[in-house]
Amino acid sequence: MTASQEPLPDEIAALRERYRHERERRVRPDGARQYLGTEAGFGYYAADPYTPETGARAPVRDTVDVAVIGGGFGGILAGARMRQQGVERVRIVEKGGDFGGTWYWNRYPGVHCDIESHVYLPMLDETGYVPEWKYAPGDEIRRHAVRVARKFDLYPDALFSTAVTSLTWDDATGTWIVATDRGDTFHATYVVTATGTLSEPKLPGLPGIETFRGHTFHTSRWDYAYTGGTPDGGLTGLAGKRVGIVGTGATGVQVIPALAEDAGHVYVFQRTPSSVDVRANRRTTAEDVGAGGDGWARARRENFLRIVSGEGADQDLVADGWTASAALLEKLLPSFSRPERGPDFEAAYEAADAAKMNELRARVQETVTDPDTAGRLQPWYRYACKRPTFSDLYYPAFNRDNVTLVDTADTHGIERVTEHGVVVGTAAYELDCLIFATGFSVGVSGISSGRLPVHGRGGAQLLHTWARTGPRTLHGFTSNGFPNLIHLGSLQNASSVNFTHILDEQAVHAAALVAAAEAKGALIEPSTEAEDAWIATMTEGAPDHEWFHAECTPGYYNREGLGRPNGASAYPHGAVAFHALLERWRETSIGEVLRARTGSA
Ligand code: NAP
Repeated sequence: MTASQEPLPDEIAALRERYRHERERRVRPDGARQYLGTEAGFGYYAADPYTPETGARAPVRDTVDVAVIGGGFGGILAGARMRQQGVERVRIVEKGGDFGGTWYWNRYPGVHCDIESHVYLPMLDETGYVPEWKYAPGDEIRRHAVRVARKFDLYPDALFSTAVTSLTWDDATGTWIVATDRGDTFHATYVVTATGTLSEPKLPGLPGIETFRGHTFHTSRWDYAYTGGTPDGGLTGLAGKRVGIVGTGATGVQVIPALAEDAGHVYVFQRTPSSVDVRANRRTTAEDVGAGGDGWARARRENFLRIVSGEGADQDLVADGWTASAALLEKLLPSFSRPERGPDFEAAYEAADAAKMNELRARVQETVTDPDTAGRLQPWYRYACKRPTFSDLYYPAFNRDNVTLVDTADTHGIERVTEHGVVVGTAAYELDCLIFATGFSVGVSGISSGRLPVHGRGGAQLLHTWARTGPRTLHGFTSNGFPNLIHLGSLQNASSVNFTHILDEQAVHAAALVAAAEAKGALIEPSTEAEDAWIATMTEGAPDHEWFHAECTPGYYNREGLGRPNGASAYPHGAVAFHALLERWRETSIGEVLRARTGSA
């Protein structure tokens, strides 16, 4: 069957069987427990290599209007949107040494965003900045984060290299007491949590990992002091070195070609291959992207969101791999409702999926000259079971003499690490350097992780409350018993592949809540009835995508093969409808979450 052919029913049946087999080969009984966090003895892997230690500083003991936890795009956008509402004291508290979040940490060679820069970079209309590449390098994105933070004057009150350790509601003052790991204790009338979802690097829990005597680090803490070079390459320190890299997800796909350029030899330890589609990065002009007119960037990202959310649009402005595969993203985002679809829909969907995955598998064979290596690089699962990736450099790297693919699928990954390298099956690989492109722990940061205790009204601890009731919010932002606390992120709202767009809509909403509370001298706190109604809205009409994730190969999308967690976790009608709902609600109903500051509060 060729890429363009519609697969026949018996071919579909054979694919299903192959996918089932691949999944079974990969599922491990220890699920997410196979990984190690980067704490305790492994703290080295999470230490900040980009900002020198500054030593102790005087603890902060003041009162601000808004404290924002996290200085990535979520926190920056929250700060910027607060400023636009006239909020004076905004304090962003960030673990890294500067703004940027994921783009602060991820500086590995080859790092780019594979969402088009003109829709990914927020606040292009407000800053007048026009990216020059269709897909921006990480450093340009990080500098844009700094640009937005400067424009909205977010530096003076910011605390960097600082982690919030607890939030405690103080009824007497009607403020939150924010404590940090640098000894700060300050008050904030409002707190916004923007701690991100994939922020803590994780390692495979391999026997002997602590014994390796060569050099080792995680891709999100790239050690340029050792490798030399920059994110643009020139890794002269790796000349003549044997480098092992574990992981072939979105990060591995970008790093491996850069390593191949400069290292003596690269061993790529793969467990599950990514799907790698055409990248076609290129320089763009302002004219190409329609930049300049009022709100051009907003219009472009709305257009992208509509298309990748399956809403359709007259014109596809971005026209890339994401928009071309939009129809196949449905199962990735549990956010679609298609009442008009008939019973044939699933069959047509599966056929389109098979055609796309055949096209991607054919791409490997067309590029990689060694048939065995090509076969091992082919992905055998449905589209978007794992995060789709894009690169024109990845497959050609495997045609180089200094790159060896080591397939670890049959042994469920690398088996063990020794002083000198790694062992897979009967083969031992001696290495000078071992790099982990093994991703990030899911659900360990922020308020729902337990690492950040949140005590609300009457001392109630948020997680204890949610352990009994399940997470309870209105629109994902606010919770009864936890006044003036606003969550940003993906809990109980809507998501999309262009996450900065989602965060910006959330930031606008958070700032509107604060402005409304300030105007009325009120507290923000939804009633339990409003939470009940929101949970019911999320549950009604939610499409059943569980089967899809249950049949996928394991990864962080499906809790390492266990399927998605139970309970309503997203608005079922998608991000476009969700944003419209929020806008309407702000116009007509925002008063419902405002409570009088009665008594001591
Ligand atoms: P990831 O998608 O979680 O990939 C981790 C990789 O490590 C997988 O290939 C995994 O194999 C492998 N692995 C884990 N344990 C292993 C073991 N014991 N032996 C061998 N292999 C092992 O992490 P990531 O690539 O850092 O990406 C994380 C997310 O960041 C992405 O999904 C994306 O959302 C974002 N990101 C985006 C971009 C971009 O925009 N271009 C770039 C980078 C990252 P299995 O698949 O078999 O588990």
